[in-house]
Amino acid sequence: MAHVNEHYFKLKAGYLFPEIARRVNSYCDSNPDADVIRLGIGDVTEPLPPAIVSAMHQAVDEMAQRSSFRGYGPEQGYDFLRNAIVEHDYQSRGIDIAADEIFVSDGSKCDSGNILDIFGPHNVVAITDPVYPVYVDTNVMAGRTGEADESGRFAGLVYLPIGAENGFTPDLPETPVDLIYLCYPNNPTGTVLTREHLQQWVAYAQQNDALILYDAAYEAYISEADVPHSIYELDGAREVAIEFRSFSKNAGFTGTRCAFTVVPKSLTGSREAGQRESIHALWNRRQSTKFNGVSYVIQQGAAAAYSDEGKQQIQELVAFYMTNARLLREGLEAVGIQVYGGVNAPYVWLKTPGEQSSWDFFDQLLEQSHLVGTPGSGFGASGEGYFRLSAFNSRENIEQAVKRFQSLVS
Ligand SMILES: *Cc1c(COP(=O)(O)O)cnc(C)c1O
Repeated sequence: MAHVNEHYFKLKAGYLFPEIARRVNSYCDSNPDADVIRLGIGDVTEPLPPAIVSAMHQAVDEMAQRSSFRGYGPEQGYDFLRNAIVEHDYQSRGIDIAADEIFVSDGSKCDSGNILDIFGPHNVVAITDPVYPVYVDTNVMAGRTGEADESGRFAGLVYLPIGAENGFTPDLPETPVDLIYLCYPNNPTGTVLTREHLQQWVAYAQQNDALILYDAAYEAYISEADVPHSIYELDGAREVAIEFRSFSKNAGFTGTRCAFTVVPKSLTGSREAGQRESIHALWNRRQSTKFNGVSYVIQQGAAAAYSDEGKQQIQELVAFYMTNARLLREGLEAVGIQVYGGVNAPYVWLKTPGEQSSWDFFDQLLEQSHLVGTPGSGFGASGEGYFRLSAFNSRENIEQAVKRFQSLVS
């Protein structure tokens, strides 16, 4: 008899985005003329920067010649890309990371899920609430939780609420934890941690022999000076943190697929008998066994993100989305809606007007304004009463959306 993974049945039935799609489709079926604007899913809308496209074209041509054709590449990524990452993302900020500590992959979503392969079943896991759902669901699948309660919180996970009352800054846990997921700039709230706050987390991890899984997918959107771009800017982080980075949100690679994970050689974890083991060696073993590398063509495209032209074009892309975020933020504030985020991240997180529940506001916005956003409660119990808007859209749609918001509220 083939037995299935029992833990999957603890997952909540409808993942957030399918439920949104269901409600939007049902509305559109009964209102075919409604001009619905979607500010929901966090996917980019602008095409790939020309410097990247041209590098990919060239790489395709190389694959067409016997003399420059390439088969399997290194599972950890080509040196040309690992070196470019180290030079431009780390050395340029005075951060000590070596090329062989970079593991190139086809996405941070998979890396942040796959990383659990190398950790034992008894780790206590802390996540912020609200949170990027992948961290929760992958731990449920791995059997590291009990069942969910009515609010959707899983037994065994340590939830760190982030909301207006604590400035979206998670307090240190009251009970000991072993693995801590931090995502900054944050999806879904669009908020950031200051250097000082992040340093407290690094210190916590050092004192409690914990490990931080730091997701910096939105690093390129940081505009304020005191916000760390990498966790390795902080003292001691090389001993306690893994960092996930992606080309999805800065260079528009959501459909092209390229990311990387930084695993310093100084990281260790404990075996059951107490012996220390290298996290780097374990991740390398895992990747070499279960992954065969990212396509050469795609890695050449990613490397072009670090050329002078590529950097310039990416900066323009980011600036375009951040102008959208500013228009959303200012437009909503002008009619008295309380908004957060949108300064160092392409997400605006708003307090629902009139204390409505997140889903009630979703329905109202869809039916009266033909706008789609994401209910905050879908990201965790503490997201109730909040709502996420994404700045990934055309300027025209953003301007139209702001007008509709304003006439809904005023
Ligand atoms: C978009 C996003 C990523 C990137 O995932 P990819 O698989 O690299 O596309 C990672 N983390 C968060 C929180 C995100 O929103």
